[in-house]
Amino acid sequence: MTTRTPLMAGNWKMNLDWKQGLALVEELGEQLKDVDTSKVDTVVLPPFVDLRTVQTAVDAGKLPIAYGGQDLSAHESGAYTGEISGQMLTALGCTFVAIGHSERRQYHGETEELTNAKVKAAFAAGLTPILCVGEPLEERQAGKQVEYSLAQVEGGLEGLTAEHVAVSVIAYEPVWAIGTGEVATPDDAQEVCAAIREWVRAKHGDTAADAVRVLYGGSVKSSNVAELMEKPDVDGALVGGASLKAEEFAKIAGYQG
Ligand code: PEP
Repeated sequence: MTTRTPLMAGNWKMNLDWKQGLALVEELGEQLKDVDTSKVDTVVLPPFVDLRTVQTAVDAGKLPIAYGGQDLSAHESGAYTGEISGQMLTALGCTFVAIGHSERRQYHGETEELTNAKVKAAFAAGLTPILCVGEPLEERQAGKQVEYSLAQVEGGLEGLTAEHVAVSVIAYEPVWAIGTGEVATPDDAQEVCAAIREWVRAKHGDTAADAVRVLYGGSVKSSNVAELMEKPDVDGALVGGASLKAEEFAKIAGYQG
């Protein structure tokens, strides 16, 4: 039995303008009334341009929803056209930020070094990073999922203290399971999530390993979340498609029944 609070994070990706985002977050607040939100952290990661609206809705309705960015700049401020800094996110009440999502790595050429710099920028701004790792299909077929994912964990967390690692969130998202409907089996998820925790234990000690939250992501739905959550090293889920429907995402957050 874990003492870690489960965390369900909804990654809206490049979906929903601010009006649609407002409707979703208000409806999610409504749906979460049926969920014991003291037992689960519910987080949404809207597009940047929706954040101000989400902040207003969450504050006005005192909704049990935390929110954050899907990315941030590695830089603090300055001449970086198109970028958003960690401080800009915290100024909007964000508490989380996703870093190194496979879509950032794949379509924006994000390297391990950049991912690591972004994790450090998140901490510098007072944000909790959700570091995303996970293997592509060919690595899985070659049986290298653990080795591949751990190399990304090591790269992303390079130079961090045990205290920072303890409060980090690491999301294991096998690339072949993202947006494909192809969910990893609970045993597949457990294998890599456990290996991540053991890597943290070896490098940063028991306190960090027992505290760090390791999520699974990849085609999570209300119909499969409970069996994934039964695994001892799966502390929650990073959810894409299913987080765009309030009722469905609330059911995921309320997986305990
Ligand atoms: C994701 O975007 O991180 C994700 C896991 O997407 P989906 O749930 O749609 O597979």
